[in-house]
Amino acid sequence: MSQQLPDSIPPGLFAARAEAIADAARELALAGWTPATSSNFSMRIDAEHAAITISGRDKGKLGRDDIMLVDMQGHAVGTDARPSAETALHTQIYRRWPGAQAVLHTHSRTQSVASRLFARDGLIRLEGWELQKAIAGHTTHESVLEIPVFPNTQHMPELVARVDAWLDAGKPLAAYLIDGHGIYTWGRDMAEARRHLEALEFLLGCELDLRRLNA
Ligand SMILES: [Zn+2]
Repeated sequence: MSQQLPDSIPPGLFAARAEAIADAARELALAGWTPATSSNFSMRIDAEHAAITISGRDKGKLGRDDIMLVDMQGHAVGTDARPSAETALHTQIYRRWPGAQAVLHTHSRTQSVASRLFARDGLIRLEGWELQKAIAGHTTHESVLEIPVFPNTQHMPELVARVDAWLDAGKPLAAYLIDGHGIYTWGRDMAEARRHLEALEFLLGCELDLRRLNA
């Protein structure tokens, strides 16, 4: 399956983004955060396009040819490949944050368990952890980081609407969990998105440990 690019997109730019996505996917798969071909990853190409993982591929063996082009409505561009079912959640992030360059979505065990545990409250409130400073805009452990937990659904417009409602209420959003499913986070480049994902994985793990210890 070959990817045709619109004239406005330099092939080198698409190739570099595809490479960066594949590298991140392989590393996150190695960490065990993408079981059974789950999870999806993307990077912005320009105001109108993003590169995203093709649906159903083993993230541990991902290469450049497993990445495809979509428009900001989540439709395939220049390929017959099928984008991930959750592409609409990626393109929503690029539409809402013009500065977002990379979006990561994983299904680690910690993310999955935490999403179930905190779904009853609708959010996880992180406070007092030094590692909160890894999240852009947080300069002290004293700040409060709220990560919403949205109900899972196979109907993507419902999830898109929940994210929109949170943002339209003026609440800050660095990441969100989907109940029984996984996490979404993003960044101004791949490194920042990776830092956010790793920090949140760590923080969620700490919150779960405190509850295991009844602390
Ligand atoms: Zn998912």
